[in-house]
Amino acid sequence: MSAVQLTLGDDGLLVAAMDLPGRPMNVVGDELMAGIAEAVQKLADPAVKGLVLSSAKADFCAGGDLDRMSKWTKPEQAFEASMGMKAVLRQLELQGKPVVAAINGHALGGGLEIALACHARIAIDDPRLKIGQPEVKLGLLPGGGGTARLSRLVGIQPALQICAEGNDLSPQQALGLGLVSELAQDRDDLIAKARAWIAAHPKAQQPWDAPKFRFPGGDSRAPALGPLWSIAPSVAAAKSWGNYPAVQHIMSAIFEGGLLGFDAACEVESRYFAACAMSQESRNLIGTLWYQLNAIKKGASRPAGLPASKVRKLGILGAGMMGAGIAYVSAKVGIEVVLLDTTAEAAERGKAYSQGLLDKAVKKGRSTIEKRDALLARITPTTDYARLDGCDLVIEAVFEDRAIKAEVTRKAEAVLATSAVFASNTSTLPITGLAQASTRPAQFIGLHFFSPVDKMPLVEIIVGAKTDDATLARGFDFVQQIGKTPIVVNDSRGFYTSRVFATYVMEGIAMLAEGVHPRSIEVAGLQAGMPMPPLALQDEVSLSLSLHVAEQTRKDLAAEGKPTVEHPGMAVIRQLCERGRIGKKAGRGFYDWGQGEDGHGKALWPELTKLYPTAARQPAQRELIDRLMFAQANEAARCLQEGVLRSVADANIGSIFGWGFAPFQGGALQFINAMGAKAFVARARELAARFGPRFEPAANIVALAEQGGRYAD
Ligand code: NAD
Repeated sequence: MSAVQLTLGDDGLLVAAMDLPGRPMNVVGDELMAGIAEAVQKLADPAVKGLVLSSAKADFCAGGDLDRMSKWTKPEQAFEASMGMKAVLRQLELQGKPVVAAINGHALGGGLEIALACHARIAIDDPRLKIGQPEVKLGLLPGGGGTARLSRLVGIQPALQICAEGNDLSPQQALGLGLVSELAQDRDDLIAKARAWIAAHPKAQQPWDAPKFRFPGGDSRAPALGPLWSIAPSVAAAKSWGNYPAVQHIMSAIFEGGLLGFDAACEVESRYFAACAMSQESRNLIGTLWYQLNAIKKGASRPAGLPASKVRKLGILGAGMMGAGIAYVSAKVGIEVVLLDTTAEAAERGKAYSQGLLDKAVKKGRSTIEKRDALLARITPTTDYARLDGCDLVIEAVFEDRAIKAEVTRKAEAVLATSAVFASNTSTLPITGLAQASTRPAQFIGLHFFSPVDKMPLVEIIVGAKTDDATLARGFDFVQQIGKTPIVVNDSRGFYTSRVFATYVMEGIAMLAEGVHPRSIEVAGLQAGMPMPPLALQDEVSLSLSLHVAEQTRKDLAAEGKPTVEHPGMAVIRQLCERGRIGKKAGRGFYDWGQGEDGHGKALWPELTKLYPTAARQPAQRELIDRLMFAQANEAARCLQEGVLRSVADANIGSIFGWGFAPFQGGALQFINAMGAKAFVARARELAARFGPRFEPAANIVALAEQGGRYAD
């Protein structure tokens, strides 16, 4: 069966419906392009007057076939595939007969490139419909003529923005840019408008094939674009620190293409496409943010064979920062929420948090008063445990104190049905210990949210020693119900995310004690691709909190008869805390906060270099970056070795979504894969010899290095 169904009407109009067999969505690959080539052939028939290209699926076309791309091993394969697609699209637009893209659903990536090769684009006016070139998010560039056609259709500057930022446009936005020519109400209207366009344009030609073609806004030489070419590369570099080569390749393809004729521009684009497709960065991004994320979404870490569940009524104990955030995201998806605190005021304050977020959304036109009121009506603030009756799930988010947590667990369980699940949002206390307060530890689980809850995409699910599979499955389903991504880990101190995240921050702090200039440390964090530098991050978390957690850990380990190995960074934290510099909440930590005219700025504390004198010889930035990244990757490997982590996908996705581990590296374990375990072990041993045993590579990395293996699920 062909991937494109052709229907020729009595009026000589050919309707081509893309419908890739056996796939939920149309994706661009050999099969789809062969189908389009058949349509082109048919279009050459003198009886055919024009072509409407549409889709029989819910979406127009979702983009390139990543399975096919993953098999390429040589740049020639990427180049040829890209040129092959363009050859078909070129024939489509050069027949001299009108071709209209009838965009019924998302037209993304290669899907939009197909539409751009049509003489007109008409889209259904649905704000959920996405139009765009998101390739850059996976380290790629549009290789089907996207950069060449967009810059000639809407102008170089908008094209650069669409391709380099990768954000979706709504049909209205696309219309405003001239990217689509018309909007339709529904499918019938869409086809009717496409037919009318063809009838009105019996001979169609692309603007770039007209003899007197001019780029809208000028070609790359246009003086008006001078400031763009001088600023865009530095703006992009400031954001990406040069870690995302696709952004540079997109700028080059559009700049160079803007000096050339259309066909030469297409060839240049294919060369840059091949460079992107072969880059380690795109392999890392596709492997983790496409394949591993999809595996997680499909339930790879959810126990199999258990029925899907939904939470209808949720209880939240503690209406503080976390409780209030969890209430908001849950009520947003229609869950009834009982928000409990010790006083009515505290519980009301927790609900007011949702009101604040919703008022802002209404003001910005992102929500309506009706939707806001309906959501707020689902949150019941209370001090009365009896209101928890009928909850399928209760999440505890009270103070980080074992005794208080035990007390609220007992009080809640007294009113809950025996089938209900009890979850703790603790960030540091092992779940197995907290479950001792429960009369049904099999139904006790950790659901570790991140702050701010409404923005952070991850929830770390912690399986205690006694947690059963049914409880895990229900926790997993709830996290997906509220639109977040779950990772599943076994119980341990700091779980996975807090434990590995701490190695990044502490390594930066240890450097300070060695005499590395604080500015170099902070820049190294950003150069490494982390969203925030280590010292600023520690200020955000608060030094006093980290000190408190370290003290608690020391006591717990001592009670188990185990010694504590203190990280060299901890002495620095203690010294700053002794001086009252406990972090952002006090306005003083490694930084002085609240600086600048608007009071929102921050500046490194000038005394820092007196307290920790800067060494005469400063290390290379490369060494600082390696230390920050190796510390994290090695700790993630240890978590896998110890069975804290259950899968490679969870390790990688958890690191990127949980604490922002440099996405272009593909996650904390992919970092080791990309470098090769052998090279990692060699460098880790060098670092261990100079900076301490914390860099000694985990046993499983050494084993992989010996076998020539890599981390995979
Ligand atoms: P918070 O201090 O903002 O809120 C705690 C709330 O619990 C307060 O409103 C308090 O009145 C209430 N509370 C205290 N004792 C109670 C009791 N006996 N019964 C009912 N309510 C009671 O704290 P938070 O930052 O929201 O943290 C809550 C939990 O979430 C802690 O376990 C913390 O470790 C964890 N956590 C925090 C973060 C974070 O970034 N803040 C991230 C992940 C997890």
